[in-house]
Amino acid sequence: MQGIDGLHPEKDGLKMKIARRAPILAVIILVLSAAVIIAWPRRHEATFYPIGVIPFRIVAYERTAFQFRDDLEAVTARMAELVAVFNRHDPTSELARMNDKARSVPFEVGTDMLRIFELSRKWHRETNGAFDPSVGPLIDLWKGAGANKRLPTADEIAVARHKAGLDLVTTMGNGKISFTREGANLDFGAIAKGYMTDEAALVLKQRGVKRGLVQAGGDTLAFGDGTFRIGIQDPTAKSGEGIVGTIEMSAGAISTSGSYERFIEIDGERYSHIVDPRTGSPVDNGVVSATVIARTSTDADAIATALMVLGLSDSIDLIKRLERVEAILILRGSDDYDVWASASLVPRLTLGPDWLGRVHLF
Ligand code: FAD
Ligand code: MG
Repeated sequence: MQGIDGLHPEKDGLKMKIARRAPILAVIILVLSAAVIIAWPRRHEATFYPIGVIPFRIVAYERTAFQFRDDLEAVTARMAELVAVFNRHDPTSELARMNDKARSVPFEVGTDMLRIFELSRKWHRETNGAFDPSVGPLIDLWKGAGANKRLPTADEIAVARHKAGLDLVTTMGNGKISFTREGANLDFGAIAKGYMTDEAALVLKQRGVKRGLVQAGGDTLAFGDGTFRIGIQDPTAKSGEGIVGTIEMSAGAISTSGSYERFIEIDGERYSHIVDPRTGSPVDNGVVSATVIARTSTDADAIATALMVLGLSDSIDLIKRLERVEAILILRGSDDYDVWASASLVPRLTLGPDWLGRVHLF
């Protein structure tokens, strides 16, 4: 029945009741939705920065928001612990203190330092000395050269080389490390980030994460079921702004080392941050990037740096010799780039159109 002035008394009364309760209903719906979002296990990801500007990204599947909040807290705490051990640039870190003290007295180190030292020794052996954490004095020399814009002299290089060499470092068997020559010191920059990636994944696994991914700059570790697509940085593009292609990965690690970043520049010439222990000078062998696929991120990180030193031919020999290790090397030729990849990667490797015609398999 139509009322006067178009009013519907009963209907309007009901509408007013609903209108009055609408905010309460909206709040109930919101609270229920939020509860479902928080309590429902799903994929979560977060990025944090334990080392300067290097992004650490963690991805965990099938976690509630509360679980992931605690996962992230546990991982960041463990990363802070490891930075306090391995940050050579911080004089209070365990590594800096060891570099300072072990010159005169054996220095007692913690479990992480001992583990990374033993793994470094292993990769030093396996790579015929190309991976060498004792290049610290040479790194310092070339860093200083970059800052002063002056190339080191042959004498300066010889002096720094005299202080490098793993034979100058001894472990006492009781968790103590000492240097047998004044000026010797260690730099784990080529392996510590990989180790941190493995440790971050271990924390997640210990907390019950069944499937996840940890990415620390150029080091990635995936675990659990399922596959991930990881991009390979284009050495001719800015960091994060171009890829050569992608690799499909199930559980395992992938690390990239490159001369295209962290280089120093003197008189318009670029010099790599990776030093060839055999010459004491930055590598200059045409390899612009080395990507390694291995079981652990620690191994992949160390091997990738070693390939940058070894050059194409010795890198191929090493990769063929190692079990369950694959690699992709990008080389700069006289006027273009070439890609060299393990033949076993073919089913998992997708290259962009610009790179497809330049692949060689080994
Ligand atoms: P990679 O190829 O994996 O490693 C290259 C690095 O390894 C070089 O920079 C050098 O340090 C070392 N190296 C060079 N030649 C060799 C060789 N032949 N064998 C073995 N090692 C070699 N950087 C800063 O500038 N400031 C910081 O405060 C700082 N804090 C850090 C804290 C931690 C805990 C770690 C792990 C790293 C930190 N770094 C810092 C970064 C570090 O100095 C390196 O730049 C970085 O680890 C290089 O990683 P990459 O993957 O780019 O290259
Ligand atoms: Mg490395």
